[in-house]
Amino acid sequence: MSKRRYNNYNNDFYHSKEWKQLRLQALERDLYQCQECLKQGKHTFASTVHHIVPLRADKSEALRVDNLETVCASCHNLLHPEKLKGIKAKKRVNRVHKLRGVVFHANPKN
Ligand SMILES: [Zn+2]
Ligand SMILES: [Zn+2]
Repeated sequence: MSKRRYNNYNNDFYHSKEWKQLRLQALERDLYQCQECLKQGKHTFASTVHHIVPLRADKSEALRVDNLETVCASCHNLLHPEKLKGIKAKKRVNRVHKLRGVVFHANPKN
């Protein structure tokens, strides 16, 4: 009984070996720093890899490292307002940047 409410559409992809390798490549390229925070001159540890062109928009972009960027959980939420729908609004998370090393959909055991 998963608590995930996402479409199953992308689940296989996110469990694929190709994706796990690729996201590591992106993390290392970006030095585990949030690229969105970096644009504002902030250095934030991040371990979430975001698709700039969404998977559902263009599957051919799924495995292109150029289409990936490392983001922190806070920025990732901002990039995905659609994921917040249905989640009962918790406090707005302006303070998330204080939480170092937040793991969003990373798998540290891998
Ligand atoms: Zn950020
Ligand atoms: Zn994303």
